[in-house]
Amino acid sequence: MSYEVTATRRRPQAFEALAGQEFVAETLKNAIQSQKIAHAYLFSGPRGCGKTSTARILAKALNCANGPTATPCGKCQQCLEITKGASTDVIEIDGASNTSVNDVRQIKDEVLFPPQSSRYKIYIIDEVHMLSTSAFNALLKTIEEPPPYCIFIFATTELQKVPATIKSRCQQFNFRLVPIERVKQLLAEAAAEINIKADDEALYWVARESTGSVRDAYTLFDQVAAFSGDHITYDKIRDKLGLVGVDRLNAIFEDAAQNKTQEALLKIDEFLQNGVSIEQFIVNCTDYLRSLLLIRAGITKEALLGQSRDRYSQVVLQAWNPIQLERALSILLQLYRDIRYSLSPRYELELAFSRLSWLSQYVSPSEVKKAIDEAKSLLMQGSKAPAMANGSQQAHAQPQNPSPRQFISMPQSEPVQAPQPQVSAAPASQPSPAQASASANPYLNRVITDLPRDTQPAPSSAPVRNIFAPPPASPAAESAPAQAAPSNHATAPLSAQTNNPPQFFNTQSVPPDMGTTTDDFAPPDPTPPDAAPSVSQPSFSYGGAVPPQQTAAATPNQSNDSSDFRSLAIKELSIRDPMIGSSLLQTGEWIKSGSSVTTQVSSTFLKMQLDSHAQNISAFLSELLGEKVRFEVVLKQIVAVAPIEQNAPVQVKILCDTFKGQIIGHSKKTEQEIANEAAQRNAEKAATENENATDEEDEE
Ligand SMILES: [Zn+2]
Repeated sequence: MSYEVTATRRRPQAFEALAGQEFVAETLKNAIQSQKIAHAYLFSGPRGCGKTSTARILAKALNCANGPTATPCGKCQQCLEITKGASTDVIEIDGASNTSVNDVRQIKDEVLFPPQSSRYKIYIIDEVHMLSTSAFNALLKTIEEPPPYCIFIFATTELQKVPATIKSRCQQFNFRLVPIERVKQLLAEAAAEINIKADDEALYWVARESTGSVRDAYTLFDQVAAFSGDHITYDKIRDKLGLVGVDRLNAIFEDAAQNKTQEALLKIDEFLQNGVSIEQFIVNCTDYLRSLLLIRAGITKEALLGQSRDRYSQVVLQAWNPIQLERALSILLQLYRDIRYSLSPRYELELAFSRLSWLSQYVSPSEVKKAIDEAKSLLMQGSKAPAMANGSQQAHAQPQNPSPRQFISMPQSEPVQAPQPQVSAAPASQPSPAQASASANPYLNRVITDLPRDTQPAPSSAPVRNIFAPPPASPAAESAPAQAAPSNHATAPLSAQTNNPPQFFNTQSVPPDMGTTTDDFAPPDPTPPDAAPSVSQPSFSYGGAVPPQQTAAATPNQSNDSSDFRSLAIKELSIRDPMIGSSLLQTGEWIKSGSSVTTQVSSTFLKMQLDSHAQNISAFLSELLGEKVRFEVVLKQIVAVAPIEQNAPVQVKILCDTFKGQIIGHSKKTEQEIANEAAQRNAEKAATENENATDEEDEE
């Protein structure tokens, strides 16, 4: 007996035998039973799922000696001839090789002759979408009004290429891919027929490889049966088919999930050596990752997963969260698209697995957003705390600071009490830029403190406030006329410690009795009448760019005058000291209220800078306005600068550093303490003002 391939041997010969196309079979049977036979049928669907077989069964059903019948006998002459493909009245045409209009004209001519020995003359045209447009047009008329004995059955794998004019003249049937379980069942039957033992898993893989095409499955089965002997096992077919089973995928993905790049790459090499094609491997990997994603989504249905849930690696499932699994799957899907244009698909594959090995550290944008939100809410909590009212950093800083005078007279032998001993200890007389920028950031500063060359650790009591030092005074500032007044820059520290870095000259070194400067350090409390400029009652305002609510309060005329005054003042002061000028340019509107000119700045640093020159500016403005005024700078926002406490989350510190934001510490003070501090501050301020008044009188 000659060898017959399984696909031919097991070609369905009756509607009942059509696997996976029950709907089509049922409809056709009913149509035949009720004698409602169309003159044109169009079968569409993937290859190897039974279109041609169905066409032949239909032909038999119509031409069977017992017919038309839904159950052709398969034994009469017509049935036998059709089965063999030898019937003169059932003409099978391959549309792919008979595409021209002449081929169709030949059909048209033949149609005119009635069937020789059968009831119907049946044309089965396969791959009908391959016909040319003119061929289709030539066919239209024939299909629409064929002779009553003539029936057309078209089959196509690409329905979208069939013209709508043809489709609308046909009864359409859509064939579907056969489910893997059904294919596996068919294969088991086929194996049993030829007395071959076949393991379930092996048949599963053959069915899976066929992707729902029964013909493909049979063809592959024949191939597998040929080299497997009388027992088809997974191990035998695995390498031959280039399959990468779930166990091997588990192994390689466990390596990737555990960041064992080397092992993963070695395994890939092994697979490729064994003849696994790269495409095949990627396909298997994507199947695998999809199954893992489904498992993580709570799906346990074996038909969807392809394997029992238990066969998938728990290591990978635990190492990667769904977001990382999605990412892994998308890397491999992209890889599949990329390799067809790649210089070296193998490199692409290795690169992909190298990336997968780092996937555990992959942070998705949504996770980043969540982290930022958390950090933000921490920062917001800080700003909401009652102690964080306007300028409350002073409340923190002042009580713990040593008095400026103490500080200045401090002998060098006690550097621990100095605000920045680590800087003093550094041999360089000028700070490096890194140090300078570090000094503006408590967090960075602490990092610098930890550097090995810093022999002396920063005392924990060192007030962070002191770190905010102004940049080295420029020569212009030193020579400015206003600088003749007692100044922090000119006098004390230089005489005391000449080789100290300029950081030492910070705002804290200003003695409290020197003019009005101290007032600037004790910032306006929300309540005191004169310290906090009353926005609602400006007697005069000097137009600035920033605060809208204040410009609204001023009439346009005033605003014009005031901005003239502001720009004039800035211009003049810039000539005397460019640094002051540039700082002043960043101030908001200038508001004159009583004997003070107030403006707002948005950064603490700017406020510190301007505060250190407030005396000079006040003097200049007084001269310009012809009356004694005091220049005051307030922070625009409710922003507090306080030492970042040790227990502040490191993320907050990093965020503050990275985004150069305002640093808002956590306050642990009780409301009572805050109230006490405010009272104390008010008392100090009142005392200082009295003192100032006395000084001014003395000067006059
Ligand atoms: Zn028959």
